[in-house]
Amino acid sequence: MDTPSSKPVLIVEDERDVIDLLTLNLRKAGGFIISTASDGVSGLNKARTEKPALIILDLMLPKMTGLEVCKVLKTDPTTRHIPIMMLTAKAEEIDRIVGLEFGADDYVTKPFSPREVILRIQAILRRGEAKEGEHLSAGAITIDPARHQVSVGGKRISLTSIEFKLLRTLVQRRGRVQERDRLLNEVWGYESIIDTRTVDTHVRRLREKLGKAGDVIETVRGFGYRLRED
Ligand code: CA
Repeated sequence: MDTPSSKPVLIVEDERDVIDLLTLNLRKAGGFIISTASDGVSGLNKARTEKPALIILDLMLPKMTGLEVCKVLKTDPTTRHIPIMMLTAKAEEIDRIVGLEFGADDYVTKPFSPREVILRIQAILRRGEAKEGEHLSAGAITIDPARHQVSVGGKRISLTSIEFKLLRTLVQRRGRVQERDRLLNEVWGYESIIDTRTVDTHVRRLREKLGKAGDVIETVRGFGYRLRED
């Protein structure tokens, strides 16, 4: 059922049965207003005019590929905030999809479980809501995103702007490993040419400032960092 809080979701996919499967499951979950497009060009146009809360974007599309659509949307200041979840049949493309090059927010590989897709979408939308002012917390750490303030056990601590963004990103994506490259992209920005070891240095300083509460940030050897789920 559509309620005032229903979220508009745009599905860009050329396979009719995939659209049907996603539509059916989004309807079942409730809280979504669904719009669809069956090629890259019309998907891009709909994304620009409808400004959905989230886009499910297939990789292989007629007229314009999903990656091209993603790249255009993520470089346009009026659409770059819209989360994009890529659908892909090619596991080897994943690094490029979520990495520096295209900036998608998440991905699922085909064939996918509709339930998992719904859970991922709900998680992405929750992260988006938290960005708009709600406090975030992790253990003893509380983040006030609007004021750029962080406290541990109620006591304010002073973080640099990079440390703040790093912590906020990890908290917003809790439970999932964040690769160094991806953190560089998110925290330092697209143009960054900084070495990935910079991430390690900043995480170390961040942990020091957080003290014991910093234990929630786990190192995932060979990959990056993850904020432990409570
Ligand atoms: Ca396709």
